[in-house]
Amino acid sequence: MKYPKEVRTYCPNCNSHQPFKARLASKGRARSMAIGNRKHERSLLGHGGKVAGEKTVKKQGKRQKVMLECQTCKKKQERVVGGRTKKKLEVKA
Ligand SMILES: [Zn+2]
Repeated sequence: MKYPKEVRTYCPNCNSHQPFKARLASKGRARSMAIGNRKHERSLLGHGGKVAGEKTVKKQGKRQKVMLECQTCKKKQERVVGGRTKKKLEVKA
């Protein structure tokens, strides 16, 4: 998927449409207290070694995000482009 480098869209801070610069949003930090991590850690307790397990869930695509920076107030906001997809997002001119 392609996304333009500059877009003109609504800025909640300026309360009007403003030019925005777009770049790929960086990935957030993994949560150590997420349910999946807690389950996995519990399964590793005691004897029995590593648990690989069979995957019951089919792989879903990920939501591709862009970070938009307002050129007037310099505030940033994240935007999801499309839904779940296996395609990578590219920011192009
Ligand atoms: Zn703004």
